[in-house]
Amino acid sequence: MTGEQWAALWPARVTVDLDAITANVKVLRERVGGAELMAVVKADAYGHGLVPSARAALKGGAVALGVAQPSEALALRTAGIDAPVLTWLVAPGLDLAPLVAADIEVGVSSTQVLEEVVAAAAGLGRAATVQLKVDTGLGRNGAFGLPVAASDLRTDWTDLVDQAARRQAEGSVRVRGIFTHFAYADAPEHPTVRAQQAAFADAVTIADRAGLAVEVRHLSNSAATLTAPDATWDMVRPGLAVFGLTPVPDLGTAADFGLRPAMRVTATVALTKRVPAGQGVSYGHTYVTDRETTLIDVPLGYADGIPRHASNVGPVQVGGRRFTVSGRVCMDQFLIDVGDLPVHAGDEVVIFGAGDDGEPTAQDWAEAAGTISYEIVTRFGPRVPRVYLGGDG
Ligand SMILES: *Cc1c(COP(=O)(O)O)cnc(C)c1O
Repeated sequence: MTGEQWAALWPARVTVDLDAITANVKVLRERVGGAELMAVVKADAYGHGLVPSARAALKGGAVALGVAQPSEALALRTAGIDAPVLTWLVAPGLDLAPLVAADIEVGVSSTQVLEEVVAAAAGLGRAATVQLKVDTGLGRNGAFGLPVAASDLRTDWTDLVDQAARRQAEGSVRVRGIFTHFAYADAPEHPTVRAQQAAFADAVTIADRAGLAVEVRHLSNSAATLTAPDATWDMVRPGLAVFGLTPVPDLGTAADFGLRPAMRVTATVALTKRVPAGQGVSYGHTYVTDRETTLIDVPLGYADGIPRHASNVGPVQVGGRRFTVSGRVCMDQFLIDVGDLPVHAGDEVVIFGAGDDGEPTAQDWAEAAGTISYEIVTRFGPRVPRVYLGGDG
Protein backbone atom coordinates (compact mmCIF):
# COMPACT_ATOMS: atom_id res chain seq x y z
CA MET A 1 0.00 0.00 0.00
CA THR A 2 1.22 3.51 -0.71
CA GLY A 3 1.53 6.19 1.95
CA GLU A 4 -1.54 7.89 0.53
CA GLN A 5 -3.60 4.74 0.71
CA TRP A 6 -2.62 4.28 4.34
CA ALA A 7 -3.43 7.90 5.08
CA ALA A 8 -6.89 7.39 3.61
CA LEU A 9 -7.54 4.78 6.31
CA TRP A 10 -6.57 6.91 9.28
CA PRO A 11 -9.21 9.09 10.89
CA ALA A 12 -6.83 11.76 12.17
CA ARG A 13 -3.87 13.62 10.77
CA VAL A 14 -1.05 16.01 11.58
CA THR A 15 -0.81 18.64 8.87
CA VAL A 16 2.56 20.35 8.72
CA ASP A 17 3.00 23.73 7.04
CA LEU A 18 6.54 23.48 5.66
CA ASP A 19 6.50 27.11 4.52
CA ALA A 20 5.93 28.12 8.14
CA ILE A 21 9.10 26.24 9.12
CA THR A 22 11.05 28.00 6.37
CA ALA A 23 9.66 31.39 7.42
CA ASN A 24 10.39 30.76 11.11
CA VAL A 25 14.03 29.99 10.34
CA LYS A 26 14.27 33.27 8.42
CA VAL A 27 12.77 35.18 11.36
CA LEU A 28 15.19 33.53 13.81
CA ARG A 29 18.16 34.24 11.55
CA GLU A 30 17.21 37.91 11.38
CA ARG A 31 17.19 38.04 15.18
CA VAL A 32 20.78 36.81 15.41
CA GLY A 33 22.24 38.99 12.69
CA GLY A 34 25.20 37.36 11.04
CA ALA A 35 25.32 34.23 13.18
CA GLU A 36 24.67 30.83 11.66
CA LEU A 37 21.64 28.75 12.54
CA MET A 38 21.63 25.04 13.23
CA ALA A 39 18.03 23.80 13.13
CA VAL A 40 17.41 21.14 15.76
CA VAL A 41 15.28 18.40 14.21
CA LYS A 42 15.56 15.70 16.85
CA ALA A 43 12.54 13.57 17.83
CA ASP A 44 11.22 13.41 14.27
CA ALA A 45 11.58 17.19 14.02
CA TYR A 46 9.54 17.69 17.19
CA GLY A 47 6.89 15.43 15.69
CA HIS A 48 6.67 17.35 12.41
CA GLY A 49 8.49 14.75 10.29
CA LEU A 50 12.28 14.60 10.14
CA VAL A 51 13.17 14.87 6.48
CA PRO A 52 10.57 17.31 5.11
CA SER A 53 11.09 19.57 8.13
CA ALA A 54 14.86 19.46 7.76
CA ARG A 55 14.59 20.43 4.10
CA ALA A 56 12.20 23.28 4.94
CA ALA A 57 14.62 24.56 7.61
CA LEU A 58 17.57 24.43 5.21
CA LYS A 59 15.50 26.35 2.68
CA GLY A 60 15.02 29.07 5.31
CA GLY A 61 18.78 29.44 5.66
CA ALA A 62 19.74 26.94 8.35
CA VAL A 63 23.33 25.92 7.58
CA ALA A 64 23.33 22.80 9.73
CA LEU A 65 21.01 20.31 11.42
CA GLY A 66 21.20 19.05 14.97
CA VAL A 67 19.78 15.83 16.38
CA ALA A 68 20.12 13.94 19.63
CA GLN A 69 20.54 10.35 18.45
CA PRO A 70 22.92 8.97 15.83
CA SER A 71 20.13 7.11 14.03
CA GLU A 72 18.35 10.42 13.43
CA ALA A 73 21.52 11.81 11.87
CA LEU A 74 21.91 8.81 9.60
CA ALA A 75 18.27 9.05 8.53
CA LEU A 76 18.98 12.56 7.25
CA ARG A 77 21.93 11.30 5.20
CA THR A 78 19.91 8.33 3.90
CA ALA A 79 17.34 10.84 2.64
CA GLY A 80 20.10 12.56 0.66
CA ILE A 81 20.55 15.62 2.87
CA ASP A 82 24.22 16.61 2.76
CA ALA A 83 24.22 19.66 5.06
CA PRO A 84 26.39 19.44 8.19
CA VAL A 85 24.64 17.27 10.79
CA LEU A 86 25.58 17.10 14.48
CA THR A 87 24.44 14.30 16.82
CA TRP A 88 25.15 14.80 20.52
CA LEU A 89 23.66 11.94 22.48
CA VAL A 90 26.18 9.26 21.74
CA ALA A 91 26.40 6.45 24.26
CA PRO A 92 29.57 4.33 24.36
CA GLY A 93 29.55 1.01 22.56
CA LEU A 94 27.68 2.15 19.44
CA ASP A 95 28.97 1.35 15.98
CA LEU A 96 30.17 4.81 15.02
CA ALA A 97 31.69 3.84 11.66
CA PRO A 98 28.51 4.59 9.67
CA LEU A 99 28.40 8.05 11.24
CA VAL A 100 32.02 8.83 10.42
CA ALA A 101 31.61 7.39 6.92
CA ALA A 102 28.57 9.61 6.37
CA ASP A 103 30.45 12.73 7.53
CA ILE A 104 28.21 13.20 10.53
CA GLU A 105 29.67 15.36 13.27
CA VAL A 106 29.72 13.62 16.61
CA GLY A 107 29.03 15.66 19.72
CA VAL A 108 31.53 14.34 22.25
CA SER A 109 31.02 14.66 26.00
CA SER A 110 33.68 12.24 27.25
CA THR A 111 37.15 10.95 26.42
CA GLN A 112 35.60 7.46 26.26
CA VAL A 113 33.39 8.41 23.31
CA LEU A 114 36.22 10.47 21.79
CA GLU A 115 38.37 7.34 21.72
CA GLU A 116 35.55 5.36 20.12
CA VAL A 117 35.26 8.02 17.41
CA VAL A 118 39.02 7.86 16.89
CA ALA A 119 38.84 4.07 16.55
CA ALA A 120 35.99 4.28 14.05
CA ALA A 121 37.91 6.87 12.03
CA ALA A 122 41.06 4.72 12.09
CA GLY A 123 39.07 1.75 10.82
CA LEU A 124 37.94 3.83 7.87
CA GLY A 125 41.32 5.45 7.28
CA ARG A 126 39.93 8.96 7.58
CA ALA A 127 39.50 11.75 10.11
CA ALA A 128 36.24 12.18 12.00
CA THR A 129 34.71 15.58 12.66
CA VAL A 130 33.62 16.20 16.23
CA GLN A 131 32.22 19.00 18.34
CA LEU A 132 33.06 18.99 22.03
CA LYS A 133 30.26 19.50 24.50
CA VAL A 134 30.97 21.18 27.81
CA ASP A 135 28.63 21.12 30.78
CA THR A 136 28.67 24.71 32.02
CA GLY A 137 25.98 24.18 34.63
CA LEU A 138 23.02 22.22 33.27
CA GLY A 139 24.33 19.11 34.99
CA ARG A 140 23.37 16.90 32.06
CA ASN A 141 25.21 15.95 28.87
CA GLY A 142 28.66 17.48 28.29
CA ALA A 143 32.06 17.11 29.97
CA PHE A 144 31.87 18.77 33.35
CA GLY A 145 33.72 22.05 33.05
CA LEU A 146 33.35 23.75 36.43
CA PRO A 147 35.36 25.46 37.78
CA VAL A 148 36.68 26.22 34.35
CA ALA A 149 38.30 29.57 35.17
CA ALA A 150 41.08 27.96 37.19
CA SER A 151 42.56 26.20 34.22
CA ASP A 152 45.30 24.65 36.29
CA LEU A 153 42.54 22.58 37.90
CA ARG A 154 41.88 19.33 36.09
CA THR A 155 38.25 18.81 35.11
CA ASP A 156 36.53 16.43 32.73
CA TRP A 157 36.56 19.35 30.29
CA THR A 158 40.32 19.96 30.46
CA ASP A 159 40.92 16.22 30.05
CA LEU A 160 38.63 16.08 27.02
CA VAL A 161 40.18 19.17 25.42
CA ASP A 162 43.73 17.90 25.90
CA GLN A 163 42.90 14.48 24.53
CA ALA A 164 41.08 15.99 21.55
CA ALA A 165 44.04 18.29 20.85
CA ARG A 166 46.38 15.25 20.82
CA ARG A 167 44.07 13.32 18.53
CA GLN A 168 43.66 16.32 16.24
CA ALA A 169 47.45 16.68 16.02
CA GLU A 170 47.67 13.01 15.00
CA GLY A 171 45.09 13.63 12.31
CA SER A 172 42.39 11.24 13.49
CA VAL A 173 39.83 13.90 14.39
CA ARG A 174 39.02 17.46 13.48
CA VAL A 175 37.42 19.46 16.28
CA ARG A 176 35.04 21.78 14.48
CA GLY A 177 33.11 23.23 17.37
CA ILE A 178 32.44 23.63 21.05
CA PHE A 179 28.99 23.87 22.54
CA THR A 180 26.98 23.86 25.72
CA HIS A 181 23.33 24.02 26.75
CA PHE A 182 21.48 26.33 29.16
CA ALA A 183 19.54 25.21 32.23
CA TYR A 184 17.38 28.33 32.54
CA ALA A 185 17.21 29.95 29.12
CA ASP A 186 13.45 30.31 29.60
CA ALA A 187 14.14 32.67 32.53
CA PRO A 188 16.62 35.14 30.98
CA GLU A 189 17.15 37.00 34.27
CA HIS A 190 18.13 33.84 36.13
CA PRO A 191 21.73 34.15 37.42
CA THR A 192 22.71 30.82 35.86
CA VAL A 193 22.24 32.31 32.38
CA ARG A 194 25.11 34.77 32.97
CA ALA A 195 27.13 32.20 34.89
CA GLN A 196 26.88 29.64 32.09
CA GLN A 197 27.90 32.24 29.51
CA ALA A 198 30.97 33.09 31.60
CA ALA A 199 31.79 29.41 32.07
CA PHE A 200 31.44 28.85 28.35
CA ALA A 201 33.84 31.71 27.59
CA ASP A 202 36.34 30.08 29.97
CA ALA A 203 35.82 26.69 28.36
CA VAL A 204 36.53 28.23 24.95
CA THR A 205 39.70 29.88 26.31
CA ILE A 206 40.90 26.53 27.66
CA ALA A 207 40.31 24.94 24.25
CA ASP A 208 42.10 27.85 22.51
CA ARG A 209 45.12 27.42 24.80
CA ALA A 210 45.19 23.72 23.97
CA GLY A 211 45.47 24.71 20.32
CA LEU A 212 41.95 23.80 19.22
CA ALA A 213 41.09 26.63 16.86
CA VAL A 214 37.43 25.76 16.42
CA GLU A 215 35.14 27.19 13.76
CA VAL A 216 31.86 27.31 15.67
CA ARG A 217 30.96 28.00 19.29
CA HIS A 218 27.32 27.82 20.29
CA LEU A 219 25.01 27.82 23.30
CA SER A 220 21.60 29.13 22.37
CA ASN A 221 18.48 27.00 22.19
CA SER A 222 15.19 28.64 21.14
CA ALA A 223 14.67 30.52 24.39
CA ALA A 224 18.17 32.01 24.37
CA THR A 225 17.91 32.80 20.65
CA LEU A 226 14.79 34.83 21.42
CA THR A 227 15.79 36.41 24.72
CA ALA A 228 19.60 36.42 25.11
CA PRO A 229 21.19 37.90 21.97
CA ASP A 230 24.55 38.29 23.76
CA ALA A 231 24.78 34.49 24.09
CA THR A 232 24.90 33.96 20.33
CA TRP A 233 28.64 33.53 19.57
CA ASP A 234 28.92 31.98 16.06
CA MET A 235 25.76 29.93 15.84
CA VAL A 236 22.38 29.38 17.47
CA ARG A 237 20.70 26.02 17.90
CA PRO A 238 16.92 26.47 18.12
CA GLY A 239 14.43 23.62 17.89
CA LEU A 240 10.99 24.50 19.20
CA ALA A 241 10.93 28.01 17.70
CA VAL A 242 11.72 26.59 14.26
CA PHE A 243 8.34 24.89 14.48
CA GLY A 244 6.66 28.15 15.43
CA LEU A 245 6.07 27.59 19.13
CA THR A 246 7.16 29.83 21.97
CA PRO A 247 9.63 28.38 24.47
CA VAL A 248 8.85 31.27 26.83
CA PRO A 249 5.05 31.53 26.95
CA ASP A 250 5.24 33.89 29.94
CA LEU A 251 7.43 36.30 27.99
CA GLY A 252 5.79 36.21 24.59
CA THR A 253 3.44 34.33 22.31
CA ALA A 254 4.62 32.79 19.06
CA ALA A 255 3.06 35.74 17.22
CA ASP A 256 4.91 38.23 19.48
CA PHE A 257 8.16 36.69 18.19
CA GLY A 258 6.95 36.62 14.58
CA LEU A 259 6.72 32.83 14.60
CA ARG A 260 4.01 30.71 13.03
CA PRO A 261 3.01 27.29 14.44
CA ALA A 262 3.60 24.70 11.71
CA MET A 263 1.51 21.85 13.12
CA ARG A 264 -2.25 21.43 12.84
CA VAL A 265 -3.95 18.33 14.23
CA THR A 266 -7.40 17.36 13.03
CA ALA A 267 -9.63 14.31 13.28
CA THR A 268 -12.81 13.09 11.69
CA VAL A 269 -15.79 12.68 14.02
CA ALA A 270 -16.37 8.91 14.20
CA LEU A 271 -19.86 8.93 15.70
CA THR A 272 -22.41 11.30 17.21
CA LYS A 273 -25.24 10.42 19.54
CA ARG A 274 -28.04 12.13 21.43
CA VAL A 275 -28.05 11.19 25.09
CA PRO A 276 -30.31 12.22 27.98
CA ALA A 277 -29.33 14.26 31.04
CA GLY A 278 -27.44 12.22 33.60
CA GLN A 279 -25.45 10.12 31.12
CA GLY A 280 -21.95 9.30 32.38
CA VAL A 281 -19.29 9.72 29.69
CA SER A 282 -16.19 7.56 29.13
CA TYR A 283 -14.31 5.44 31.69
CA GLY A 284 -15.12 6.22 35.28
CA HIS A 285 -17.95 8.59 34.27
CA THR A 286 -15.87 11.60 35.33
CA TYR A 287 -18.18 13.70 33.16
CA VAL A 288 -21.98 13.44 33.41
CA THR A 289 -24.32 15.27 31.04
CA ASP A 290 -26.50 17.90 32.72
CA ARG A 291 -29.14 18.03 29.95
CA GLU A 292 -30.12 16.19 26.80
CA THR A 293 -27.18 16.73 24.52
CA THR A 294 -25.04 15.48 21.63
CA LEU A 295 -21.83 13.59 22.30
CA ILE A 296 -19.24 13.27 19.56
CA ASP A 297 -16.61 10.58 19.45
CA VAL A 298 -13.14 11.74 18.35
CA PRO A 299 -10.87 8.91 17.17
CA LEU A 300 -7.65 10.04 18.88
CA GLY A 301 -6.44 8.88 22.27
CA TYR A 302 -3.46 8.74 24.53
CA ALA A 303 -1.86 6.08 22.33
CA ASP A 304 -1.85 8.71 19.59
CA GLY A 305 -0.41 11.51 21.74
CA ILE A 306 -3.46 13.11 23.32
CA PRO A 307 -2.39 13.47 26.97
CA ARG A 308 -4.61 11.58 29.40
CA HIS A 309 -4.06 14.57 31.67
CA ALA A 310 -6.22 16.49 29.20
CA SER A 311 -9.29 14.56 30.39
CA ASN A 312 -12.08 17.11 30.99
CA VAL A 313 -9.74 20.05 30.16
CA GLY A 314 -8.28 19.67 26.65
CA PRO A 315 -9.61 22.34 24.24
CA VAL A 316 -10.94 21.55 20.75
CA GLN A 317 -12.78 23.36 17.98
CA VAL A 318 -15.84 21.88 16.26
CA GLY A 319 -18.05 23.75 13.81
CA GLY A 320 -16.13 26.95 14.51
CA ARG A 321 -16.80 26.76 18.26
CA ARG A 322 -14.57 25.88 21.20
CA PHE A 323 -15.38 22.92 23.41
CA THR A 324 -13.57 20.89 26.05
CA VAL A 325 -12.85 17.16 26.20
CA SER A 326 -15.70 15.50 28.13
CA GLY A 327 -14.62 12.71 30.46
CA ARG A 328 -11.46 10.66 30.29
CA VAL A 329 -9.19 10.47 27.28
CA CYS A 330 -9.07 6.76 26.34
CA MET A 331 -6.36 4.91 24.44
CA ASP A 332 -7.97 5.43 21.02
CA GLN A 333 -10.68 8.04 21.45
CA PHE A 334 -12.23 10.81 23.50
CA LEU A 335 -15.66 12.39 23.67
CA ILE A 336 -16.95 15.95 23.46
CA ASP A 337 -20.32 17.21 24.66
CA VAL A 338 -21.31 19.68 21.93
CA GLY A 339 -24.79 20.49 23.26
CA ASP A 340 -27.23 21.14 20.44
CA LEU A 341 -24.62 22.06 17.83
CA PRO A 342 -25.47 20.16 14.66
CA VAL A 343 -22.30 18.07 14.35
CA HIS A 344 -22.29 14.96 12.17
CA ALA A 345 -20.10 11.91 11.93
CA GLY A 346 -17.54 12.72 9.25
CA ASP A 347 -17.20 16.37 10.30
CA GLU A 348 -13.77 17.68 11.22
CA VAL A 349 -12.57 18.39 14.76
CA VAL A 350 -9.58 20.67 15.18
CA ILE A 351 -7.43 19.58 18.09
CA PHE A 352 -5.03 22.47 17.65
CA GLY A 353 -3.53 24.67 14.98
CA ALA A 354 -1.96 28.07 14.48
CA GLY A 355 -4.87 29.75 16.29
CA ASP A 356 -5.84 32.09 13.46
CA ASP A 357 -9.47 31.00 13.34
CA GLY A 358 -10.08 30.66 17.03
CA GLU A 359 -8.83 27.08 17.22
CA PRO A 360 -6.74 26.04 20.22
CA THR A 361 -2.95 26.03 19.93
CA ALA A 362 -0.41 23.47 21.12
CA GLN A 363 0.38 25.97 23.87
CA ASP A 364 -3.29 25.90 24.97
CA TRP A 365 -3.07 22.10 25.19
CA ALA A 366 0.14 22.33 27.16
CA GLU A 367 -1.48 24.66 29.68
CA ALA A 368 -4.60 22.48 29.92
CA ALA A 369 -2.58 19.32 30.47
CA GLY A 370 -0.01 20.87 32.80
CA THR A 371 2.94 20.40 30.46
CA ILE A 372 4.95 22.25 27.80
CA SER A 373 4.19 22.55 24.10
CA TYR A 374 7.32 20.48 23.36
CA GLU A 375 5.60 17.45 24.86
CA ILE A 376 2.32 18.09 23.03
CA VAL A 377 3.82 18.18 19.52
CA THR A 378 6.40 15.40 19.95
CA ARG A 379 3.96 12.71 21.00
CA PHE A 380 1.79 12.06 17.95
CA GLY A 381 2.27 8.42 17.13
CA PRO A 382 2.33 6.17 14.10
CA ARG A 383 -1.47 6.10 13.74
CA VAL A 384 -1.52 9.81 12.94
CA PRO A 385 -0.03 10.35 9.48
CA ARG A 386 1.81 13.56 8.64
CA VAL A 387 0.41 15.49 5.71
CA TYR A 388 2.60 18.24 4.26
CA LEU A 389 1.62 21.63 2.89
CA GLY A 390 4.00 23.88 0.99
CA GLY A 391 7.70 23.16 0.73
CA ASP A 392 9.09 22.02 -2.57
CA GLY A 393 6.19 19.69 -3.32
C1 LIG B 1 16.85 20.07 22.19
C2 LIG B 1 18.11 20.81 22.19
C3 LIG B 1 18.18 22.06 21.56
C4 LIG B 1 16.97 22.79 21.04
O1 LIG B 1 16.18 23.20 22.15
P1 LIG B 1 14.88 24.11 21.96
O2 LIG B 1 14.52 24.51 23.34
O3 LIG B 1 13.86 23.23 21.33
O4 LIG B 1 15.25 25.22 21.08
C5 LIG B 1 19.41 22.65 21.45
N1 LIG B 1 20.52 22.06 21.95
C6 LIG B 1 20.48 20.88 22.60
C7 LIG B 1 21.73 20.29 23.13
C8 LIG B 1 19.27 20.21 22.75
O5 LIG B 1 19.23 19.05 23.40
